[in-house]
Amino acid sequence: MKQGLFLLNCKDKQRRADEPLRRLKQNFSDVEFIESYPNDIEELIHSVEEAKRLGVCMVVAGGGDGTISVVAGLLNETDIPLLVLPMGTVNAFARSMGIPLDPVEAASHFIPGRVRAVDMGSVNGRFFLCFMSIGIDALAVHLVDKRVKKKIGKFAYVLSGIRSIVSSRSIPCFEFEKRPCYHCIMSNVRNYAGIDMFPENDVGDGAMLYTLHGSNNIIATLLWARKLAFNKRGEYDVLTSEKNMVFECDAPVHIQIDGEAVLFDTIVDAKKTITVRVHEKSLKVFCT
Ligand SMILES: [Mg+2]
Repeated sequence: MKQGLFLLNCKDKQRRADEPLRRLKQNFSDVEFIESYPNDIEELIHSVEEAKRLGVCMVVAGGGDGTISVVAGLLNETDIPLLVLPMGTVNAFARSMGIPLDPVEAASHFIPGRVRAVDMGSVNGRFFLCFMSIGIDALAVHLVDKRVKKKIGKFAYVLSGIRSIVSSRSIPCFEFEKRPCYHCIMSNVRNYAGIDMFPENDVGDGAMLYTLHGSNNIIATLLWARKLAFNKRGEYDVLTSEKNMVFECDAPVHIQIDGEAVLFDTIVDAKKTITVRVHEKSLKVFCT
């Protein structure tokens, strides 16, 4: 019998696992699922690496975009398809891919063989599946208070977004093709942080969409953020990425990768450059 990994990283893991797992077993009757409920990132990585060593035929990952991102990075450039069960706050990947946001319903939609290859991105070698940002938006993710997020969900990002814009004067400038920037959002998927900001995005075309903002004036930044938040199509530039894009900066900048806060310092290379790469069709995912 083939083996598959069933991994859940969310609150009340075991209780929430029962019904999705039962439905998956119905549709994937020839797969024996190894269950994994990691307590931290190290355990999660170990589970996926062990599953790869065993030669599993699929990996089911239940959790938020952060969990999905880590698992996707580990499955990048393998033939092991990823099945996503949305169990997070935003679930941008599931929203973009038309996966039902209820994990039980999602579990019953997947069938063997309905798999497609999608692109992944990387920032100085660290993989992302959905999106990344540099500057003001990334600072907002850095400022999110985990306790507040537990209480009010994605509205915690709205609060930290306002805080980030108010402090935008102190954000260091970075450059892209000699153009000064304070903010870059790049997305592989249609949905960005719960908003369908890039509806024309194709997750498997070898390119990503991005938008830049070149001012740290608070009013200008507020107006720009408002256009993005309210999805004022045509009022902000949407550009298509190259396979390799290099951003340069002198001071540490804030970076966000699939909703996770990273300081430029932690992924810095000698030349103080941020290299974003598009890895075309490097990950296989189940679609509904
Ligand atoms: Mg694309």
